[in-house]
Amino acid sequence: MGIHLLHGCAPTWVQHRQSFRNYVPENRLWTYLKSLEQKYVPWSKHGINHHVLTVDDSTQGAARACVLARELGHHVILFVNPLQIIRQVPYFFSLLDELLDQCANHTVTYGGIKYELYGLTVTRSLRRVLKADLLTISDEAALQRVRELAREFDAPDLNISHHAQTMSIDELREISSLGVEIANHGWSHLEISHLNHEQVAAHILDGQKWIQQEIGLPAEHYAVPFGTSFVSDAAQVLVRGITMLANSSLPQGELRPGQWNRFELTEELQKP
Ligand SMILES: [Zn+2]
Repeated sequence: MGIHLLHGCAPTWVQHRQSFRNYVPENRLWTYLKSLEQKYVPWSKHGINHHVLTVDDSTQGAARACVLARELGHHVILFVNPLQIIRQVPYFFSLLDELLDQCANHTVTYGGIKYELYGLTVTRSLRRVLKADLLTISDEAALQRVRELAREFDAPDLNISHHAQTMSIDELREISSLGVEIANHGWSHLEISHLNHEQVAAHILDGQKWIQQEIGLPAEHYAVPFGTSFVSDAAQVLVRGITMLANSSLPQGELRPGQWNRFELTEELQKP
């Protein structure tokens, strides 16, 4: 059994734009989901020959991918963060991608280093540096920092594209009513390797509790924000189902008891 991962789709997808880097063209996703002989199924310990489809983050593009999957008869698990939905704020990395798109073909200075943003290589290296710095602070502090950077980089008006905007609680309830399985991506989109056990426990349990309260169904599974860090055995006990990672440098499947690595479909579905 493989667990597949997407971050959503966009109807008008544009290649080489940072704001689309984690999304796939909607028509490609439709064709792919329609072409599969075996439907995606719910996760099960015994589902050896079947695949599971998961979509991460509380965005419009993620919601759209889940709706397509349900229309075509697939089971799909959506991992959401309550903080973004409650506060109706975007993810800091979505705002960062908009900033990098606005700075395309400009030179910016960060950390004393000049970045000539005329191609993907330099843009991606600046993104890595910025993301590493932003990962050490809270979601809201990171959003604020990106807004400050926008002023420093002379790109003050950042608009989040529709596919990266945060869904509302009503939209989440609506897709749940279509049969999309709502699961826990943690209270907010924090890098958990920077947290102590109590903070990780609160991050997992607060997300589970909110989904149960708002959706009326238990959140079985948990997906680690950013996908690379394992949870401790003590934190894994708090997860009802399994913990899912998305770490392309590790093999797929169950890597520790209850912790499974997923296969990212995005790159394959972005190919022309
Ligand atoms: Zn995520």
